[in-house]
Amino acid sequence: MGETVIPLADLRYAAPVPIIPAVLTAPTGLIADQLGRPLRDLRISVTDRCNFRCSYCMPKEVFDRDYVFLPHSSLLSFEEISRLARIFVAHGVQKIRLTGGEPLLRKGLEALVAMLAELRTPDGTPLDLTLTTNGSVLARKARALADAGLKRVTVSLDALDDSIFRRMNDVDFPVADVLQGIAAAQAAGLGPIKVNMVVKRGTNDHEIVAMARHFRHSGIVLRFIEYMDVGASNGWRMDEVLPSAQVLGRLREHWPLESLDPTVVGETAERWRYSDGAGEIGLISSVTQAFCRDCNRARLSTEGKLFMCLFATSGHDLRSLLRQGRSDAEISAALGLVWAGRSDRYSELRAAQPAQPLDSSTGQRRVEMHYIGG
Ligand code: SAM
Repeated sequence: MGETVIPLADLRYAAPVPIIPAVLTAPTGLIADQLGRPLRDLRISVTDRCNFRCSYCMPKEVFDRDYVFLPHSSLLSFEEISRLARIFVAHGVQKIRLTGGEPLLRKGLEALVAMLAELRTPDGTPLDLTLTTNGSVLARKARALADAGLKRVTVSLDALDDSIFRRMNDVDFPVADVLQGIAAAQAAGLGPIKVNMVVKRGTNDHEIVAMARHFRHSGIVLRFIEYMDVGASNGWRMDEVLPSAQVLGRLREHWPLESLDPTVVGETAERWRYSDGAGEIGLISSVTQAFCRDCNRARLSTEGKLFMCLFATSGHDLRSLLRQGRSDAEISAALGLVWAGRSDRYSELRAAQPAQPLDSSTGQRRVEMHYIGG
């Protein structure tokens, strides 16, 4: 019988404990990295588990019954997450997105939302507090999340055609239940709602126009995401990427579209509006048009490792600082030092050699999206 080698959960990705500087300078809210980029956006993965097995993210062959997810003791508690979030906000973070895995699988998530909703930026403004979900249990949870202080949600939905959707999520989950979740989020006031569609050439690209038609006039912003080479297990191939320019071309065969200015610096999606007033769409072109230049995002994994880039191969172990009993001032100074040293711009570098993921030559394992958070 063949043996399966399972990596120990805590050793999955390299993550040295950050250095605490000798002089603890207080956060100014104005830190900048090596490329002059501020820290504005924090994505927090609250679980590495998901009830879907989308082949581009958590393919069934890898994430099967034998796969070892993180034990509960490894996860940051809600108190640990909100303590770190407060430190990040003091450094300039204005937006927090809860993600995963499937964030709504984390028990009692509303309690964490309520804690984060109390945070204020240095000038007293509440955070832009949002969550990305596959929508599978949103119909049941939308009201409680809104009551806890969540502002809005982004729902992932890759097709309207039920058989294509069931095949893509690979757990036979029906599209109708996700649409119900979106309706519940609208009713609870969790807007403006965004819907993310990952476009995979040959799999769901023929659903682009049907999706656009469905969400026109709904107030919901449909965003088309280029299939990315995240992680190491989805078997990514460049020929399965449908460039956003071609998505736009297909939409323009049906409706005139005009480009819109970004609403904030560092926005991932390029915005377009239907000229007939039917609403807005977004194009996220991380493969064909890298947007590292303005990237102001940090990612906190389920077990408290900080990653500077979606395509990183190693992180920074903040959980050890928390569990060693370090003070807020020490953790804050360590975080300031880590951000100041940041120079990641993977997608720009990959654009120079698009046929291969960059780390194939170094043998380093890139962090998986369900672990780091999308
Ligand atoms: N479970 C939640 C969900 O489904 O939205 C949150 C986590 S999921 C990793 C976040 C987002 O990443 C989803 O919109 C998903 O479609 C997207 N995603 C995952 N793998 C991707 C890939 N290889 N390329 C592009 N987007 C991807």
